[in-house]
Amino acid sequence: MIIRERASPNHDARPEGGRVDMLVLHYTGMKTAAEAIDRLCDPAAKVSAHYVIDEDGTVWRLVEESRRAWHAGVSYWQGTENVNAASIGIELVNPGHEWGYRAFPEAQMASLETLGSALLQRHPIPADRVAGHSDVAPLRKQDPGELFDWPRLARAGIGFWPTEPAPAAMDIAGAQAMLSSIGYRLPRSGVLDDETSQVLIAFQRRFRPRRIDGALDDETATRLAAVERAVSALRGGRAV
Ligand SMILES: [Zn+2]
Repeated sequence: MIIRERASPNHDARPEGGRVDMLVLHYTGMKTAAEAIDRLCDPAAKVSAHYVIDEDGTVWRLVEESRRAWHAGVSYWQGTENVNAASIGIELVNPGHEWGYRAFPEAQMASLETLGSALLQRHPIPADRVAGHSDVAPLRKQDPGELFDWPRLARAGIGFWPTEPAPAAMDIAGAQAMLSSIGYRLPRSGVLDDETSQVLIAFQRRFRPRRIDGALDDETATRLAAVERAVSALRGGRAV
């Protein structure tokens, strides 16, 4: 895989330790790759990512992995408040929901698998800490979205995709407990409030993309239980 260089000024030092243990995937959400890369390199925009992967599979490096790129914004996952400090960010070129959301092409996915595998060699990133931007910022973000092929990525050894069935009986309090255990931040109100609904939408976008409505139907409950069980198993004795 050939990596092309296009340096972004939008980065700073990782905090003390500098340990990287998360991978966050995004889409660019702009009309063209050139427009997206220009913005990610514009000092006024104050945003960036470590890598951008174009739809033809071209990989651009914008920020060195040792530096903190500014891709996730206000975010949270499994107790990590400053996701940028602990993560590598990859932007997949795609117009996104605003400009004509479309499937991620084969060449782009193949490059992502190659790059992702190399990243996992260099950094200790647990499978349950490979996340979408919408997982770490469910109230603000939809990317990479329901067309992204998480099962394929998991088959390539990057992230996870639970498949086993699980019992479905679950109330809202139970769903909130499961979502929290998986890694999402949300209120434990026991009722289906707006924020819980938004987090359920983020969960569905990632793990039940067939229907994204924020409702706790039987299939969503079944997926919640399966994902929670998988994350618990992946986490093992690891402190969160
Ligand atoms: Zn994003």
